[in-house]
Amino acid sequence: MWPTRRFADPSPPAGQNGDGAPLNRFGVFCKSSYLSNPMRMNLKFSVSSPRADRIHYVNEQDVRVLLGRLPDALWSRLRAVHFNDQSRGARTLGYVTTRGRREITLCALPPRIGLTAALHKGQTSEKFGARRGHKWPVLAVRRFMLYYVFLHELGHLQLIDERAPSARRKFADETLAHAFAIEWCNRLWSESFVHADPVHNPPSPSENAALAAETSPSQM
Ligand SMILES: [Zn+2]
Repeated sequence: MWPTRRFADPSPPAGQNGDGAPLNRFGVFCKSSYLSNPMRMNLKFSVSSPRADRIHYVNEQDVRVLLGRLPDALWSRLRAVHFNDQSRGARTLGYVTTRGRREITLCALPPRIGLTAALHKGQTSEKFGARRGHKWPVLAVRRFMLYYVFLHELGHLQLIDERAPSARRKFADETLAHAFAIEWCNRLWSESFVHADPVHNPPSPSENAALAAETSPSQM
């Protein structure tokens, strides 16, 4: 399992609204407190326009909501999030810059895509709101990009051995980044999160029912 206790209080932050911004004791958005958080102020975002018909499935706001649900210590290294068009035929969904491990990139993807092939052992299409072997609904792709790909890349930013001579040993490797993503997705989805965008929760019962009722056998 991912050794989260080495990094932060494992419990998700309480007392926050749907944007990850803190609420005061009356449930009112504390704007000054939110803006004074240097991590949020310093986090940079960049977007490059995708070519052809590719699209960015998630945006700055989506990432900020997700980060707001995580303990600050888990993303204290993060300095920038980029949305670019370097998926190379949907082979790369996201990556971190190897040196320094301070930036995460998420890649634009085709408007119709199935990501079953990108799943790891133990993951299912249904977890994200899609059917195995079929094109995925946009919402399912967005869930996967945020609550697996982004969390996986954030996992690579976690310091494992500060004194290790190489970045490869200093930071989480593939196995740990994967475990980090699975663990935090499960934690965040174990409780209902009040937000207008369903991307931040697992598929609802009605979404699952609609998916099961679909019979059109589109190709993967
Ligand atoms: Zn990785």
